[in-house]
Amino acid sequence: MPLLPYFAFRDYPAGLEAQLMQAVTDTVSSKRYILGAHLEGFEQEFARYLGMAAAIGVGNGYDALVIALKAVGVGPGDEVVVPAHTFVATLNAVLQVGARPVLADPDKATNNLTAASAGKYITSRTKAILPVHLYGQVCQMQELQQLAQEHNLLLIEDAAQAHGAKYKNQLAGTFGHAAAFSFYPTKNLGALGDGGAVVTNSPALADFARRYRNYGESRKYQSELIGINSRLDELQAAVLRVKLPQLDVLNAERQRLAQVYLQALQGTGDLILPVTAPDCSHVYHIFSIRTEFRDQLQAWLQQQGIATAVHYPVPVHLQPAYRFLKYKPGDFPVAEELATTSLSLPLFPGLAQTEQQAVIQCITQFFN
Ligand SMILES: *Cc1c(COP(=O)(O)O)cnc(C)c1O
Repeated sequence: MPLLPYFAFRDYPAGLEAQLMQAVTDTVSSKRYILGAHLEGFEQEFARYLGMAAAIGVGNGYDALVIALKAVGVGPGDEVVVPAHTFVATLNAVLQVGARPVLADPDKATNNLTAASAGKYITSRTKAILPVHLYGQVCQMQELQQLAQEHNLLLIEDAAQAHGAKYKNQLAGTFGHAAAFSFYPTKNLGALGDGGAVVTNSPALADFARRYRNYGESRKYQSELIGINSRLDELQAAVLRVKLPQLDVLNAERQRLAQVYLQALQGTGDLILPVTAPDCSHVYHIFSIRTEFRDQLQAWLQQQGIATAVHYPVPVHLQPAYRFLKYKPGDFPVAEELATTSLSLPLFPGLAQTEQQAVIQCITQFFN
């Protein structure tokens, strides 16, 4: 078998690539590249998909988090509770607005932040809770909403890995005061470059986000606040308008592939397979398994020409960049264990049956 990458862009569903080429060509011909009809169209379509009042297209997922935090008023002196097991973007966004990220250990089974864990870190300075719907599974939001209400806190969702995932039949990104999405190309809804969106039901927050992403302008050369430049461009918006109607199809294919892995790998060695919590649909942005033999298994698969990934090999609290937060080894035992035992398998729309069977066979061989 030729090398199997951890992730590959495939023409799935068949014909999608041709549609994307057409959308790009049409946008080039339209001669409108910034803040045009495609952005407006995509914002409306994405908001409608989510059942939300507003979606605001921005430059990337990180900016979406920053703008959402700014919009709700998180700033210097505030603390924001974030999961200890996440991509650094979540923390960086909190730091960018001048607030302090306060880490909380995730749940071992789902890898997600829970209300029980977040609750331990609430102080008089806590302003918001920022759960991340990791790997494509929504956090247990009812408990988190209750916790936020009890303590009068803001709830902002990092939905960068969970487009189309549901909890109690409600979509990721629709539970908090605002949510941030990323359209990084490998995300479940991915552009052909950088992109992101802030979503909210609040007209005031939507209005702030819309102005803030475009130098604070409410009209051309009329600035009422000091904004930044973080606009989703027309090319990316046109691409996303082609892909959004396929999101559920793409997610269904991820779910089908996950079921194949789950059935074939059940009871293999000491493997712990991903768990879908009650009331959740999992859209498998990442299919992460756990084993005590992670490094050996990864090396073995690599030898057989199968690439894998580790999400995330060094927990944020042990990364050199965050030393100033004064955390130490042992502070977040679950995050630390996940970092040493997790391995993400190739899972992407268009992964061929022969490719997936090869992954399964190699893993089975390793444990025999
Ligand atoms: C991808 C991602 C982001 C950042 O998105 P970008 O578009 O790359 O800036 C933020 N949070 C999480 C959990 C992500 O996976």
